[in-house]
Amino acid sequence: MIKVVVCGAYGKMGRAVLNAVHNDSDLMLVGAVDVMSKGDDIGSLIGIDKIGINVRKDLQEVLTETSADVVVDFTNPNVVMNNIRIILKNRVYPVVGTTGLTDENKKEIEQLCKENNVGAFIAPNFAIGAVLMMKLSQEVAKYMPDIEIIELHHDQKLDAPSGTALRTAELISEVRGVRAQGHPDEVEKIKGARGSDFNGIHIHSVRLPGYVAHQEVIFGGLGQTLTIRHDSINRDSFMPGVVIACKKVVSLDTLVCGLENILN
Ligand code: NAD
Repeated sequence: MIKVVVCGAYGKMGRAVLNAVHNDSDLMLVGAVDVMSKGDDIGSLIGIDKIGINVRKDLQEVLTETSADVVVDFTNPNVVMNNIRIILKNRVYPVVGTTGLTDENKKEIEQLCKENNVGAFIAPNFAIGAVLMMKLSQEVAKYMPDIEIIELHHDQKLDAPSGTALRTAELISEVRGVRAQGHPDEVEKIKGARGSDFNGIHIHSVRLPGYVAHQEVIFGGLGQTLTIRHDSINRDSFMPGVVIACKKVVSLDTLVCGLENILN
């Protein structure tokens, strides 16, 4: 059994992860952390009877007391790096879904993995359909290199563009490089009208109530367009990926990014 702590337990993703871990026969839920904790039993968060484990505020205390193998972090971009430092220094394996980590953060995580002889896993998107959208986009980009991305999320999301949009743009850049798109003399009448720019790929971020996580990758060619779209219509879409990551991360000895790299 792999012992799992969930960090960000009161959150939209945290609650779904508590449920998924609790219901998987290879995983054992041993703790939950949230800075907003009021000490509730985990059972009350996921609509089942009490299970005798309370949500706590302090990650270090929980790690000291539970001898956890894995911490799943779905918190927020401002705190996630500090949580990862605590997790790795305790020689516990982090599975990180929180977005907003920089390349510099990833280098630090690799270094901490080495120093503490432990592995780590990060995925900007745990939904298999989103991973396929990224893979297919990279393939299509070889033939249709003019591309724009529209990502659409709920209006409580803190970072923009989304981690998935950035990862998609990175993967596309690997095959098509930097490429200027649009008219060279185009003028934005309102700043930001053309979205953000990653190596020439414009990324547009929509934030509205009602959305969960959605993305369109639009390819334009002579007389035609091709659109690849993925929709996470609820947070269950991410859970099979999170469960797989909890099981795989304990065999890693370095940082691995992206669900596609642990799926067989
Ligand atoms: P949310 O705001 O609903 O939940 C975040 C929770 O973290 C809150 O309960 C908050 O109190 C808690 N928290 C804040 N600081 C903390 C700390 N230092 N220690 C412990 N808990 C802390 O957010 P959400 O919608 O659940 O999303 C969480 C993160 O996951 C975001 O970065 C989001 O972009 C990302 N996300 C990733 C995926 C993926 O597949 N990788 C999918 C959905 C969301």
